[in-house]
Amino acid sequence: MTSEPEDSTQIHVQTEQVFASLAAYQHALTSHVDWLQSWYSSVLNWDDQARPTPGAGHCRFTNWYEGAGQSALAGYPAFAELGQLHLEIHAKAEQITERAADGHTVTTSDYESMMALVLAFSTTAQGLERDTWRTLATVDALTGLGNRQTMMSHLIGERDRAIRLKQPCCVGLADIDHFKRINDTHGHAVGDRVLRAVAEALRHTVRPYDVLYRYGGEEFLVCLPAATQEAGLHVLERMRAAVAGLNLTTATGQPIPVTASFGLAELSADLSVEESLDRADIALYDGKRGGRNRVIAWSQDDKSDKPG
Ligand code: GH3
Ligand code: MG
Ligand code: MG
Repeated sequence: MTSEPEDSTQIHVQTEQVFASLAAYQHALTSHVDWLQSWYSSVLNWDDQARPTPGAGHCRFTNWYEGAGQSALAGYPAFAELGQLHLEIHAKAEQITERAADGHTVTTSDYESMMALVLAFSTTAQGLERDTWRTLATVDALTGLGNRQTMMSHLIGERDRAIRLKQPCCVGLADIDHFKRINDTHGHAVGDRVLRAVAEALRHTVRPYDVLYRYGGEEFLVCLPAATQEAGLHVLERMRAAVAGLNLTTATGQPIPVTASFGLAELSADLSVEESLDRADIALYDGKRGGRNRVIAWSQDDKSDKPG
């Protein structure tokens, strides 16, 4: 699901790929139900000329499963369980078919054990789909970063952790400069492309354990665990330089200059998360006022109000 190193906590989900994986999955489930119906009907209406096909090789779900190891769904525990249950269903079908071929009728016990497996398969299949939708609900579809819904609970957790471990933790806010102008000059689709490119640049610039969110339209938030204000400024400065160095162009080769302004504040026991975010916002708007394309940390004497 993500291409991040193993110790990374960054959220990055390519939602189009997840939707494509879900569609292929639903197709595969339908194939399995088709196989089940056809096998069941052949066993109940035995005909030596048209014998049932119980093996997993006769079910297109198998092809899907074998090819889905790298798909978005493979990361969930239910994926492995589903593969196992699928094999068990086919093994049971083979057993029942052999007995039927020997002239035995399908017993109640055969029926019940097959039904138990089919029910377990169906429950696990629904769980896998639910897990996937739950992930999609936490992600911003345009950038693949975490969305605002999950951000607050994460920040509250990080603040608590920092207090417990007596460690610093900072939050950074980024806002693309004059983004409206980019939309107005080049159109909304180009604006979207710029947002994706900025998100990607930020994602590659933060430390593996920093977590990025799309905070709003052209605003991003980064949580920087274990970062002092000095370390936080360092990370934000790298992010600023990465955005300013993007070198984006339109389809006709026209340059699209992009910069962003950044504000930094610490999470602390004396402040709620909201108050820290307000401080980061005040610092950010100081940066806007000071000429944009800059990084500012909130400071004690910073009493300035956000411009209207
Ligand atoms: P500043 O430097 O002061 O931040 O100026 P700005 O133009 O970036 O700020 P402003 O708040 O005036 O404009 C933000 C624009 O971002 C307006 C809105 O239409 C645009 N926007 C918000 N979300 C999206 C989006 O998902 N896609 C695109 N293309 N534009 C968006
Ligand atoms: Mg803004
Ligand atoms: Mg802006």
